[in-house]
Amino acid sequence: MSYSYEAPVSQALFDRASVVTPGGVNSPVRAFRAVGGTPRFMVSGDGPYLTDADGREYVDLVCSWGPMILGHSRPEVIEAVQAAVARGTSFGTPGEGEVALAEEIVGRVASVEQVRLVSSGTEATMSAIRLARGFTGRAKIVKFAGCYHGHVDALLAAAGSGVATFGLPDTPGVTGAQAGDTVVLPYNDLQAVRDAFAAHPGEIACVITEASPGNMGVVPPREGFNAGLKELCAANGALYISDEVMTGFRTSKAGWYGIDGVAPDLMTFGKVMGGGFPAAAFGGRADVMAHLAPAGPVYQAGTLSGNPVATAAGLAQLRLLDDAAYAKVDAVSAEIRGLVSDALGKEGVAHRVQTAGNMFSVFFTSDEVRDYEDAKRQEAFRFTAFFHSMLADGVYLPPSAFESWFVSTAHDDRAIERVAAALPAAARAAAEATGEGVRA
Ligand code: PLP
Repeated sequence: MSYSYEAPVSQALFDRASVVTPGGVNSPVRAFRAVGGTPRFMVSGDGPYLTDADGREYVDLVCSWGPMILGHSRPEVIEAVQAAVARGTSFGTPGEGEVALAEEIVGRVASVEQVRLVSSGTEATMSAIRLARGFTGRAKIVKFAGCYHGHVDALLAAAGSGVATFGLPDTPGVTGAQAGDTVVLPYNDLQAVRDAFAAHPGEIACVITEASPGNMGVVPPREGFNAGLKELCAANGALYISDEVMTGFRTSKAGWYGIDGVAPDLMTFGKVMGGGFPAAAFGGRADVMAHLAPAGPVYQAGTLSGNPVATAAGLAQLRLLDDAAYAKVDAVSAEIRGLVSDALGKEGVAHRVQTAGNMFSVFFTSDEVRDYEDAKRQEAFRFTAFFHSMLADGVYLPPSAFESWFVSTAHDDRAIERVAAALPAAARAAAEATGEGVRA
């Protein structure tokens, strides 16, 4: 497939990067391998727009994979960061910013009594699992195919996101011992969970699930699925861990918990709570969290945990996220979803737009997508054509058919009009795509 536009400065940067960094990127999906072409090196962001090294502006529908829910360079967040930087960038001691951010999280999410700050979503899920194992004295964990919880060894079995994008069956470097206690089940299938508890009585420490998955595309839980997980965990002495790294503080003030109200034993957070900086967290029941060092025996630590600049950014962002902000993000999401669906419908392209709050993704299939197997059945080659047409017309989508799209409060009428203007050609490209010579 050839592309009708070029990005010479990005290409030169990518060539340089490929010499000193594997694949030229620091996180695999950024490399555009699923869709082909040159990844765009971005130099600045302003509201709903990104500008690349070739000076082209894009409407950003990735928002840094979720965190930038207020858009880029929101003045209040930038001011809070600048003020924090001026006071010093890391102390290796406790600080008030960490307390305030923990209080903000506990205040928003009723099921979280205590929280521990870390630096990435991966660290949050890794630590939550260690804590669940330490608390229960059990080894096995249950996860769902297509759910991505970061690149934790034990959780890289049948993971979504980049693993789905590249179709990796599993990952070299993860040993049988590291993944051997991981039970992988189909998503949205409570009977499979019942059967797993019956097959491994007294052995399962926890069930971890994305609160509403966004890493195989957006595949929301069926009515009663999360409540069923909680019930089965409670009945079998296991902990129910809800991974809200993606949904947390994005889908509502209290994330997905604010929508379905099912109280997990432990939760994990990241993305939005860091305001564009590396800040993440795990938290939940105080009696479980009391097992963490130094209060208890389960060890967990971090040189930059609760970093003062990251906590200042996260706190500034969360404090701006009131009911009106969520209403705005929801409205932007609904409008863009409608435009995408209309454009694809006009060209007769089989598709489904699936949503979870303001998160959404477009599957190129007319069938409902309930799990990872369904997601993989879509005609991903149509997404490739759609993606490149949108990119050529100045709209930056996630470079994979297996990712959520993200919008922000900053997506105003002008930005939405630019998306609307790009859609007819992209829908035509999707309709005309044959999949030949394209990595699906
Ligand atoms: N959990 C979920 C649901 C995620 O979507 C992600 C990242 O996309 C992670 C965990 C890992 O977070 P991080 O990339 O900050 O390590």
